[in-house]
Amino acid sequence: MEHQASIDRERLRLALTQEDARFEADHPRSLEMFERARSSLLAGVPMPWMTQWAGRFPIFVEAAGGARFTDVDGNSYVDFCLGDTGAMTGHSPASVADAISEQAHRGITTMLPTTDALAVSQDLAERFGLPYWQFCLTATDANRFTIRIARELTGRPKILVFSWCYHGTVDETFIVLENGKPKARPGAIGPPVDPTVTTRVVEWNDTEALERELAHGDVACVLTEPVLTNIGIIHPEPGFHDSLRELTSASGTYLVIDETHTLCAGPGGYTGTANLQPDFITLGKPIASGLPAAAYGMSAEVGEVAIVSPKIVETSDIGGIGGTLSGNALSLAAMRATLDGVLTPEAFEVMIPLAERFETGVQEAIDRHGLPWHVSRLGCRVEYAFRTPAPRNGSEAAAAVDHDLDRYLHLFMLNRGVLMTPFHNMALMSPATTESDVDLHAQLFDQAVAGLIA
Ligand code: PMP
Repeated sequence: MEHQASIDRERLRLALTQEDARFEADHPRSLEMFERARSSLLAGVPMPWMTQWAGRFPIFVEAAGGARFTDVDGNSYVDFCLGDTGAMTGHSPASVADAISEQAHRGITTMLPTTDALAVSQDLAERFGLPYWQFCLTATDANRFTIRIARELTGRPKILVFSWCYHGTVDETFIVLENGKPKARPGAIGPPVDPTVTTRVVEWNDTEALERELAHGDVACVLTEPVLTNIGIIHPEPGFHDSLRELTSASGTYLVIDETHTLCAGPGGYTGTANLQPDFITLGKPIASGLPAAAYGMSAEVGEVAIVSPKIVETSDIGGIGGTLSGNALSLAAMRATLDGVLTPEAFEVMIPLAERFETGVQEAIDRHGLPWHVSRLGCRVEYAFRTPAPRNGSEAAAAVDHDLDRYLHLFMLNRGVLMTPFHNMALMSPATTESDVDLHAQLFDQAVAGLIA
């Protein structure tokens, strides 16, 4: 058997201590801001998850542009996190910044449609193959609203998700399988009800379990990413999407594909590249270059039923699908400029080869050190994980998470000017990312790992 290297935990512990000290020494102003912020921000941060970055405190950003940003201490970074996909377009693309600025002077929100709404819906229809679209502000809301429509139209109470999925802060999705048993996802804050009341959960790539759970006849929709991206990148096995479509259709269950992250696969997301045929698509994050904006689309069949449903259109002001600022003029201007000029087929022709180069660099380092790790890619997104072979499902991937190793690699990169996506070992390429950015990561990854081998 081939020799497999392993990580020396004592070396890892020492290296983490050194990286922590270097981080603090290089970020005195961020530390000062953080200390001051503790008196007016809970935990010193705008949102609690901002405490979860690799350092003892988050760095405070001065400005971001393209694939880079600077912090208040004057350090500059190559950004492979890109706002966890919100800025997959690169930060503040000029054409979008101009469109936002122009629209900001012509009205931000009126609760009435603008012509941009028409242009954006037509563009999305062409990219994703679904004719009817609606707009809201976050991908979470796109998912929540879609679930409501699916429940309303089917009269069924439950949804089905895959274990270790993530679809935003949607109550019904905070469920995992533990030793084969459904239970609330660890860490779920103040769940309204036990999620097993609202949700069925199966492992990704498990067609048999999917068929068994759908056979209960109480599932309104399956909500899934077309490739899991929130517990590492886990591809569907050959034939899985065909089975998913056949089983949902046969059981009268809607299929909702969440393309919020998998838009990284191409201009029409994974749906476009793999020619999927979902009933609904949900989208958010980068579609307005990071300005709050999201969309959900539905098939002709769904649209025809929804339009005559007594509740979905007629009582829609108080029906549970809302958002006063949803579909506002500013979001739509930003979406239009993003779709027209930034997330174009030509941009993906730049971004995807960069991700291939990133993947190769990481794979070469893994091979050089003989580590039992793997690297996965979807379009312009790449992620490495500390196991091999690649996991088949969320539970296998979750079991391979190594928090100390994650924190060390993130901090090592950050201390040398490279930002990776927190809670993941994920990197995303924007149209502004360069080959030398990618090569810098490869070199640092190799260096970071070399110091840890037992
Ligand atoms: N869908 C997917 C697949 C996501 O990864 C996320 C967030 N990471 C969301 C939806 C929710 O996005 P938001 O937090 O912007 O509402």
